Amino acid sequence: MVTGMQTPVFIDDLPDSSAVGSRKSERYRQVRNRALAEMLLDEAVTWHERPCPACGQDRASSRNFSQALMPFQRCSACNTIYAARVPDQRHLDQERLQMLSDLPPEPADSAKSTREFEFVSILNWLRLTEARHGKPLNTVAEYRFSSQAPSLPQTVERIGSTRDWTFLPLSDSGSANFGDLRDHLQASSPDAVLLYGEMDRIAEPAQLLRVVRANLPRGSLVFIATSCADGLEYEILGADSPSFVPLDRLNIFSVGGFSALVEELGYKAIEISTPGRLDAVILQKYFTEIEGSDVPFWSGFFRSANKDRLHDLQILLQRSLRSGVMRFVLET
Ligand SMILES: [Zn+2]
Repeated sequence: MVTGMQTPVFIDDLPDSSAVGSRKSERYRQVRNRALAEMLLDEAVTWHERPCPACGQDRASSRNFSQALMPFQRCSACNTIYAARVPDQRHLDQERLQMLSDLPPEPADSAKSTREFEFVSILNWLRLTEARHGKPLNTVAEYRFSSQAPSLPQTVERIGSTRDWTFLPLSDSGSANFGDLRDHLQASSPDAVLLYGEMDRIAEPAQLLRVVRANLPRGSLVFIATSCADGLEYEILGADSPSFVPLDRLNIFSVGGFSALVEELGYKAIEISTPGRLDAVILQKYFTEIEGSDVPFWSGFFRSANKDRLHDLQILLQRSLRSGVMRFVLET
């Protein structure tokens, strides 16, 4: 399925492990888990059970991934990890808006923001795809990531994108069934849509993809970045992975599962990559800091690996589509 597809390698330099430590603080994890517990107790929240959100395989034939607060499954057909019961999207959005308003603001000097690297990487991704496919992307609609990353619009402006960007933040009105996005697509027909980190945290990812495809001209491009269940971090650590915050990871698609889903919905996948840079560094940090965290082969590997060895491993993971972050470019 992915044979012959581009699998670009993005890494140039490994980040420092100190940059990883603050990424998902224990405090953040506790806040999110408390929010989840409150939703579980809130009678106004509607929950629904579901099969694998990627390939539709019945939950009964999947494996248990985690029971923490709510059950997660690992699909035995496509390797996707998913919450077996999800809250309704309206309450998810309300809770997320609340969480975002409680977070400390980003540093004022966005040039020094640790997110700058990420934003530049997104802009390069669009530019390289545009060059590769000879398709000008003059207008881009970004959905909801700017709520998570408020300095994104300024960075895009400052780095001199010649594109015309529209940022559609998470809102508590008009976003039912992604109607805000639908209205924008119908009114503007952008050349590209960017969905960054959104697939992980919504109750019905297929529904969002349907809205996008139904309201764009054929031949438009959709850029999607999401967590990847095939990543070495999830393979080794499972639910102990520092990236696994249940409320933010209702869907962790595998490469194969997400490929099957988008094909089923009528998209054509034109690029697949797993450009994650952090897997090796996260795993080394885990095995050197957590007492008694012994896994055959890997704990010894990571405890003794120097920076060159970690770098080699990270490149191998990217090349073999085994990093914890994946990117898809789809054509409508
Ligand atoms: Zn599946």
